[in-house]
Amino acid sequence: MKTSPIAIFKEKRPVIISGPCSAETEEQVLETCTTIAKSGKVDILRAGIWKPRTRPNSFEGVGVEGLQWLKKAKEATGLPTAVEVANFNHVFEALKHGVDILWVGARTTVNPFSVQEIADALKGTDATVMIKNPVHADIELWTGALERLHGAGITKLGLIHRGFAQYGNSVYRNDPKWQLAIEMKRRFPEIPMVCDPSHICGKRDLLHAVSQQALDMDFDGLMLESHIDPSNALSDKDQQLTPKDLEIIIDNLVVRRPNI
Ligand code: PEP
Ligand code: MN
Repeated sequence: MKTSPIAIFKEKRPVIISGPCSAETEEQVLETCTTIAKSGKVDILRAGIWKPRTRPNSFEGVGVEGLQWLKKAKEATGLPTAVEVANFNHVFEALKHGVDILWVGARTTVNPFSVQEIADALKGTDATVMIKNPVHADIELWTGALERLHGAGITKLGLIHRGFAQYGNSVYRNDPKWQLAIEMKRRFPEIPMVCDPSHICGKRDLLHAVSQQALDMDFDGLMLESHIDPSNALSDKDQQLTPKDLEIIIDNLVVRRPNI
């Protein structure tokens, strides 16, 4: 698989991606993004615009309107932005509004039809795309999603490890099953891999330990959700960090291999 480097991953280690689980209001996006950017420790801003909720009747995202807020956050901070896309229309709107990085969510990576639709929508573009592992522990689907995007001519590719669903009690929201991420690194050593401790842990108190473990395993970056007021967040309220707590976690990470 021939890939082009995603420039930012060649410049810094670990790359920190942060921002709210969901864009909720213009104020919430701008306040969260400008505050986390001020620390100088965040490299890419994230926000969910269309939210793939497991059960209906919960907040499903603000839609296209939120892309304008993210654009303002990008202008205010000078940082690139990342958004989850799940279909042709999402890709079209995200690119139209200047989103820098698209990511394929865990509930989309499981569906080859959806991944192919995204790949087809991206044909002929120079897009950067990161692919989360599928919800369940099938790395052939994860590999297949990479292959579908690569087959559409997308060469700036990255992987996001967000853990795997399990039935029954566990300390994790999604079991990390680290060995599967290691196997993906073995298959695609040149493709950057980011860990998403927020969706692995599901709660704040585990975030530092899982982030450190990912760095110890040589992941290239971390995706950590942050929110100006986590307890009132419309999605994933137990795992989002205040800007201050995000900074504390980053400051307490031991980075053993800062440069490539
Ligand atoms: C998210 O990043 O907010 C999200 C919905 O993640 P996942 O696809 O990992 O569940
Ligand atoms: Mn989330």
